[in-house]
Amino acid sequence: MNLQGKTALVTGSTSGIGLGIALKLAEAGANLVLNGFGDVEAAIAAVSAHGGQVRHHPADMSKPAEIEALVRFAEEQFGGVDILVNNAGIQHVAPVEEFPVERWDSIIAINLSSAFHTTRLALPGMRTRNWGRIINIASAHGLAASAGKSAYVAAKHGLVGLTKSVALETATTGVTCNAICPGWVLTPLVQKQINDRAAAAGGLDQARHNLLAEKQPSLEFVTPEQLGALALFLCSDAAEQVRGAAWNMDGGWLAQ
Ligand code: NAD
Repeated sequence: MNLQGKTALVTGSTSGIGLGIALKLAEAGANLVLNGFGDVEAAIAAVSAHGGQVRHHPADMSKPAEIEALVRFAEEQFGGVDILVNNAGIQHVAPVEEFPVERWDSIIAINLSSAFHTTRLALPGMRTRNWGRIINIASAHGLAASAGKSAYVAAKHGLVGLTKSVALETATTGVTCNAICPGWVLTPLVQKQINDRAAAAGGLDQARHNLLAEKQPSLEFVTPEQLGALALFLCSDAAEQVRGAAWNMDGGWLAQ
């Protein structure tokens, strides 16, 4: 696929799934605007090595003014956002009655509201050019729940709902909006959950096995590269009539 001349903005793309998607889009020739914290230089170097031009903007996706600055930055640098991947996300695990209120607020802001803000800001340009791809990285938890993850499950179900509404509002245009719903992917977000379970499980290997066995029948992790390939497909002409989908890639999680 040739994405030369297109610009992709991937939120939370300094690590894990976002970085995997950015690498695939860069490989196909897109210019990339990366976002996120941590080892920014390593992410820029990795994506640059795959081709296209690369920029990074440090917007905190919990802050609407910084999100606006991020989208404006992409417009200034490359003339607009053609592919918007809403990927930034965090997790916190606790029973609902003990759930820290500020963690609830952060999860809703970063995992859900940020996608509303990027979409409302990037969509006018996509409509003008009559081409766009909005890809929301939801989760198996956008379609089914787990105990202890009330904020995350609420945010991801909300993100699937936002995806459907935006898909309907753009249905007669060249802009599509879809969600990808990954199962377990071995990224820092999930490694933390494995570490938290290790003591009770009797070691990291057993904790990793238990985590998969509870939900993911394949007993294997989905990879960022596989999710990047799905995102790339959603950018293709062949996916023009894929609209409002919540596409799971989850080792069989949601088939149960
Ligand atoms: P990760 O922790 O590896 O990466 C998260 C990225 O988001 C990082 O680049 C981080 O810097 C960035 N980020 C975090 N808070 C931010 C903020 N306030 N502003 C800007 N950037 C911020 O996690 P991941 O597993 O790659 O998760 C990426 C997305 O995929 C999340 O939305 C997550 O919910 C979703 N997801 C992950 C899994 C999984 O098993 N790992 C499964 C389903 C869905």
